[in-house]
Amino acid sequence: MDYSALYLHLAETSLTHWLTDLPKALEQRLEGVNHGDMARWEAAVAKLPPARTTSLDVTATVRVGSAGDLDAEESEQLKNALRALQPWRKGPFEVFGLMVDCEWRSDWKWQRVSPHVDLRGRKVLDVGCGNGYHMWRMWGGGAETVIGIDPNLLFLNQFNAVKKYIPDAPVWQLPFTLEDLPEPAGGFDTVFSMGVLYHRRSPVDHLLQLKACLRPGGELVLETLVVEGDADTCLLPEDRYAQMRNVWFLPSVAMLEKLLRRSGFTDVRCIDLNATSTAEQRSTEWMRFQSLTDFLDPLNPELTVEGHPAPLRATLMARKP
Ligand code: SAH
Repeated sequence: MDYSALYLHLAETSLTHWLTDLPKALEQRLEGVNHGDMARWEAAVAKLPPARTTSLDVTATVRVGSAGDLDAEESEQLKNALRALQPWRKGPFEVFGLMVDCEWRSDWKWQRVSPHVDLRGRKVLDVGCGNGYHMWRMWGGGAETVIGIDPNLLFLNQFNAVKKYIPDAPVWQLPFTLEDLPEPAGGFDTVFSMGVLYHRRSPVDHLLQLKACLRPGGELVLETLVVEGDADTCLLPEDRYAQMRNVWFLPSVAMLEKLLRRSGFTDVRCIDLNATSTAEQRSTEWMRFQSLTDFLDPLNPELTVEGHPAPLRATLMARKP
């Protein structure tokens, strides 16, 4: 993986201080990869057909090239390579006419969030970026630089597959957790954490780590699972939540606002509240495992199979003073 364009780019921005630690940390992270599937995923990315991208839309959707850019054999190569990178969770992507219909309609989340954030000219960090779907939309929203971090190496390869056809975009994905991100990462104008907080055992530490990535005056966009209730209400599942093993704190919106204020954020506000529908999260031919329908009580879809309230997600914004 070649990050030289990222380093050149960083050298010209206010994030230049990052160059002290980032290259070495990335090298160590990639050397340390001992993942049986990694070679297979990298081989799939290498088998993507070379192509010249004649058109691109990252504002209304993520559409790269058009069907006419590839011949029949190349289209087949493309499909096989992208299939080898299944399961595709976040999307949808349209790549040279091929619809990659993912488990999540991530475009719906973006439709709810993006009207509240002006990214023009901003340096953006997307924590837990998945395969980078929203990063393309952030760039489409006018961001000057978009960096995403996510420890998952399949998602990194899915990102690399798309980036192959948009090589000059100022959009990069790095295989770090927020906790492992080399310091000092401060200096971002906008930091997103969407779908990550409830996977963290220490929610306040997560909020403080997000704050450390922002410049003074910078903006946080936080999206997470919540429950109904007052400022003292929080669900901590004893075991699984909607079949997920790694779910910790599901606060009420009022408690989440309080957590943000106590973590030192100001201008805390909730911009969206949305019950996840089985149209937004579902199995597709690109993600053949079980999905939300299977995680809800068949007799009462307001409950998960474990009897917890069904997924309700809030997006909050806040400022670092
Ligand atoms: N932000 C995307 C994806 C959410 S899924 C969206 O809103 O659609 C949650 C992602 O967070 C996963 O891809 C997972 O690999 C990543 N993740 C989990 N723990 C993390 C951590 N500590 N730091 C950064 N990313 C993390």
